[in-house]
Amino acid sequence: METMTCTDKKCGIHGRVRTHGRTFVGTVTQGKAQRTATVSWERLHFVPKYERYEKRRTVVKAHNPACIEARKGEIVRIMESKPISKTKHFVIIERVGKNWQYMAKEELLQEDAKLVTAAAIESKNKEKDTNSNSKENK
Ligand SMILES: [Zn+2]
Repeated sequence: METMTCTDKKCGIHGRVRTHGRTFVGTVTQGKAQRTATVSWERLHFVPKYERYEKRRTVVKAHNPACIEARKGEIVRIMESKPISKTKHFVIIERVGKNWQYMAKEELLQEDAKLVTAAAIESKNKEKDTNSNSKENK
């Protein structure tokens, strides 16, 4: 992977996009778009009234260069850059690992969705059965 030639002009390492400013580590929550990933992470925000911290989520779009191609559920390090497009001003510079917690959660959600659709299909079939039965009875 390291030796592959990267032709992505917007790559933070091989391209012409200069990175500067802050770096963050976050999880890719949406990686389907071409060369763009949605990265989010949690930060703590202090609430003076209650003298406590609350969790807040930051979501940004980051350029996903060809040499990295981060997928959903992966933890990546991103760095601020000059604006790449209207909503992008971050570049993924490194894969850090996988967010198993996030992936497990996603899997559970998907399974739930499957169960729900399966149940819906079943109830529809039952409806059909009762309809055909009533017709036969007449
Ligand atoms: Zn590259």
